[in-house]
Amino acid sequence: MVDMVLTIEVPSEFFFEFLEEHYITLLRKTIRQVMGTGAKLEYSILMDQNTSDVPYAVKVPSKNTGNLKNVPVHAPVNIGQNGIRNPFIIPGLQKVNIDSQLNPNYSFENFVEGDCNRLARSAGLAVAGKPGGTSFNPLLIYGGTGLGKTHLAQAIGIDIKTRFPGKTVLFVQSERFIQQFIDSVKNNSQNDFVNFYQMIDVLIIDDIQFLSGKDKTQDVFFHIFNHLHQSNKQLVLTCDKPPADLQGMEQRLLSRFKWGLSADLQVPDIETRIAILQKKLYHDGIELAPDIVEYIAYSITSNIRELEGSLVTILAQSTFNKKVISLDLAKQMIDKFVKNTSHEVSIDYIQKVVCDYFNLPLEVLKSKTRKREVVQARQIAMYFAKSLTKSSLSTIGINCGGKDHATVLHACRTVNNLIETDKKFRSSVNELQKKITINSK
Ligand code: ADP
Ligand code: MG
Repeated sequence: MVDMVLTIEVPSEFFFEFLEEHYITLLRKTIRQVMGTGAKLEYSILMDQNTSDVPYAVKVPSKNTGNLKNVPVHAPVNIGQNGIRNPFIIPGLQKVNIDSQLNPNYSFENFVEGDCNRLARSAGLAVAGKPGGTSFNPLLIYGGTGLGKTHLAQAIGIDIKTRFPGKTVLFVQSERFIQQFIDSVKNNSQNDFVNFYQMIDVLIIDDIQFLSGKDKTQDVFFHIFNHLHQSNKQLVLTCDKPPADLQGMEQRLLSRFKWGLSADLQVPDIETRIAILQKKLYHDGIELAPDIVEYIAYSITSNIRELEGSLVTILAQSTFNKKVISLDLAKQMIDKFVKNTSHEVSIDYIQKVVCDYFNLPLEVLKSKTRKREVVQARQIAMYFAKSLTKSSLSTIGINCGGKDHATVLHACRTVNNLIETDKKFRSSVNELQKKITINSK
């Protein structure tokens, strides 16, 4: 009697392994019950032939119920006399030998959480906990320069390596990816290139905007992407703009990017900037007075790399010149560091100093409340914003409780009047001005 065989067709080797690992007991039991004790289980695995689009399938008997012998089925294209080349094994190359190209400093531990990065960070953590097993595949992290894309992408890789040491993680800059591809074309080793990338479990490609306009590289990346995605391998991509704004990127790739999650990194708010500076100082074992840290955080607003850079500059200066870092010294250096805005403080910083002075929470100053003491503090903040920054009246109004330009004008007049008539008020304003402005001795 011919043995009965149950063939399960699966889209990739991953599914075969998954079923064998998790469902074999149930399958075996059911097959015995329904088909009898002599019945066999085998899988028909659809193989994606690297760059050629011709699919073929291999039949693999269950490791648990039959012999391991590959039998080609469905028109065995590309399968010669010698049987099927296993695309998962490349001679001379062992998975464990791949250097992940990760920088241990870029860990989650060193990545400060804030409103600006909460979604991207938690998506990153979810991916790290279950690479390839969440719907965040690919995870695409986008945002302006110096906002932490590379750091976060690296953190995901580092975390996965710690939790799953057996997984092959690879971080690669897209320029490097492009160069490797060009070299492989020159050396006629495109297959090796593709095979190499197809055996990665977690592929992290940084700055994919550089693939724009590189049609050949996009093609090959498309195939690698499909292969990895189909085998439930994780992809993490970063980009300096939202994918929809990417010019020169193939539509089919753009649509693949939408399969997972796109999460953006935004400009950090003041609390996050302070926290990042503190973390860095703590990490380097350096102490800096809180008002200096705050001054830096208030002055450098748009870019974390610059934020760190200014801190390094200040520390270096003080070491070279053997000067103690005072607030004045910090202010002088920050002013040199922040080009174009020299001698201009930010409205945020003015508000902060005013609030500290009057012992008011910043939210209250920025609210619409008309309590007397708040109104006066707000007017003083507006007055300084007008006299010490180049901001327009309406910008100042928006930043101080959503007032219009007439209110700001009125505030400036009121403060000027009081300075002339009220001695105590005048000395308070002078004192505040000293605290706010650069006091270069
Ligand atoms: P991008 O790749 O977006 O240009 P990076 O990842 O290179 O930015 O980040 C620039 C610098 O800012 C790096 O030194 C990084 O460690 C630091 N950085 C960015 N985001 C954070 C964060 N949330 N916490 C701590 N450091 C950060
Ligand atoms: Mg980067």
